[in-house]
Amino acid sequence: MVKRFDGREYNELRKINIKLNVIDNAKGSAIFSFGDTVALAAVYGPKPSKMSLDYDKAFLRVRYNMLTFSTPERKKPTPGRREIELSEVIKRALEPALLLEEIPGSIIDVYVEILNADAGTRTASINAASLALSLAGIPMKDLVIGLAVGKVGEKIVVDLNKEEEDYDSEKLRKDPEKSKYIEYYGEGRATDIPVAIIPSEKKFTLIQLDGEISNRELNDALNLALEKALEIKNLMKSNILKHLSSSGNFIY
Ligand code: ADP
Repeated sequence: MVKRFDGREYNELRKINIKLNVIDNAKGSAIFSFGDTVALAAVYGPKPSKMSLDYDKAFLRVRYNMLTFSTPERKKPTPGRREIELSEVIKRALEPALLLEEIPGSIIDVYVEILNADAGTRTASINAASLALSLAGIPMKDLVIGLAVGKVGEKIVVDLNKEEEDYDSEKLRKDPEKSKYIEYYGEGRATDIPVAIIPSEKKFTLIQLDGEISNRELNDALNLALEKALEIKNLMKSNILKHLSSSGNFIY
């Protein structure tokens, strides 16, 4: 029976890989990957702020960058509009989970580098940053979990890869090797919905939508996102606990 392009079920995430504290000079760092999408996040600070921006709470800065060799075609090294926007999107997705008022007058810098891109880089970045912030000891309510759900053709699926994001049944019909996938996905194009969730509060801190979808399908997709966010959180949490115990830190 035909399944997704890469053989997954509709509710199956790509293989997740997590590596913690990979950079000595950062306070906390992590690599998080969804299949071939690999994000590295490093946190520096909190350090005292020299700016009189917001003294009641810490100031969070996020820089998202895609490395030149992260895409099949060389990407220009200079940050484009997309990277500037995604830096802001990731910052806003993370901020509601951080207890920034507990460390007033300080600055926290989060640097995210995309090592390899196959769709879902903003959501992988959110997970890498969440892990790095928690390892850096930044006070937070919960980990923020990023993942994409969406509609490919007529099918609701989780964690779209690039081939699914680019789905177009009209184009596929002309490809003798790939036209069989129309049987699985159905007619139409793809609607990608990257989200970020604070699982303990079932709160969405990011919902973006690129494409068309009915209210009912959107509801199904967001419920699927909530379910899968818990799965990702449990995996992230167990990796943190394993890392802390193996590095000699005492866990209560
Ligand atoms: P996200 O990576 O969060 O899904 P987009 O929807 O903007 O964000 O991008 C989807 C995918 O398109 C990326 O993950 C990457 O695989 C590819 N992509 C984005 N920008 C570029 C670029 N400048 N050059 C080549 N591929 C790109």
